[in-house]
Amino acid sequence: MIYQRKDLSGSIDLKDGGNDWVINGILKPSLSHLQRDISDTGARVRNDIQAAPISQTFNPEYLKNVPVIGLHNVITESEPNQHGANRVSELDTQISSLIKQGYKIQSLRQIASSNTPPDEKTIALTFDDCYQGWYENLLPILKKYDIQATLFVNPGLLDTGTYGEDVQITYLNSKDLKDGYNKGYFDVQSHSLDHVSLVGLSKKELQEQLLTSQKVLRELLGDDPLVASMVAFPHGKYDWEVLDEASKHYSTMFGYDGQVRNIKQYGDKSVVSRTYSIKQAGIGNPSLS
Ligand SMILES: [Zn+2]
Repeated sequence: MIYQRKDLSGSIDLKDGGNDWVINGILKPSLSHLQRDISDTGARVRNDIQAAPISQTFNPEYLKNVPVIGLHNVITESEPNQHGANRVSELDTQISSLIKQGYKIQSLRQIASSNTPPDEKTIALTFDDCYQGWYENLLPILKKYDIQATLFVNPGLLDTGTYGEDVQITYLNSKDLKDGYNKGYFDVQSHSLDHVSLVGLSKKELQEQLLTSQKVLRELLGDDPLVASMVAFPHGKYDWEVLDEASKHYSTMFGYDGQVRNIKQYGDKSVVSRTYSIKQAGIGNPSLS
């Protein structure tokens, strides 16, 4: 599975979101599938998968009015720079500042399961991929401020150890994901199974990426229907086929185009935008904390 790890360790392309290839409202096919190698995933196709129903109190419409920040790894002060990662101190300062300014930080699950629509100052912090840094470095911050974050997880990367030479990335252990979830700090959602681009996959491959990831996460966390009820597309990439298949199994789909509070509508399907950092979202003024 070297292709996935390379992809995650050195080259999260934050500019490679929906906007790059949606031109005048027309979806352009991505060429990324030409580079993919999915030969390793065939053996894990499962045919017995059914999407579980989700709770009545779950209201995905609420998510459309909330700025959603899309982050990645959280690293200590002494670790080497890692593209797309936040340092503990930086994240702590930003969260502290937002809370002081009256912002309410909630997970996507909390927002959508609420009985009332989110208020103006609600924002969601989401973290993509599958990093052990979430458990070591993010969880203590979530505990400190008593907030919940959404993790968009690739279950195919759980328990796969450490990868990389100059910059080493350790993938999350499933027992630690479970611990953070059981303690009520991790809202666990899907980021596909293996982090391959979903554009250009066969229907069977697409179903595996979308449905097996959901199934594995729900099995791990006790068949909670609000686990993996939402999906964020790897690299922010999608097309009609991806939207059609994903919308059959997930309540809400997330892109990654740097927009705040922006919903892209494709026929009857909608994709919620995310932006790359708290600073970029222009929310509050973290530097004044
Ligand atoms: Zn990702």
